[in-house]
Amino acid sequence: MGGVVKAFCKSCKYKQDNLSLGHGFDFTRGSLMPAYCESCDKLHLADIDKEENLCKVHKTALIFYHAEAALSENIVADSSFDIFEWKGSAIKKADYLCPKCKTFSMHFKDKGIDWD
Ligand SMILES: [Zn+2]
Ligand SMILES: [Zn+2]
Repeated sequence: MGGVVKAFCKSCKYKQDNLSLGHGFDFTRGSLMPAYCESCDKLHLADIDKEENLCKVHKTALIFYHAEAALSENIVADSSFDIFEWKGSAIKKADYLCPKCKTFSMHFKDKGIDWD
């Protein structure tokens, strides 16, 4: 179970394709959701079931996009617009902080694959 989304920044053209969220095909890897590191210029995937997720490079705590209000703007509250939902945590339709150019120009988009 899970889904695949992509991220695209309309400002700097940063693109991350095929972000495999939830369990994906591998049930041993945890429940992955996109996360942000202040010092990295790319997205991370981190396990929402873990108490703490650290950036492998910077050893600082990763921040989940769905859990931290400061990482998004213009959130669409209506849940029927949600991009991805996993165990009660949803990536809403919103403008997200791009890890590369640090502006609220990044969007997540569902790739339309659902393995339920
Ligand atoms: Zn980092
Ligand atoms: Zn950007």
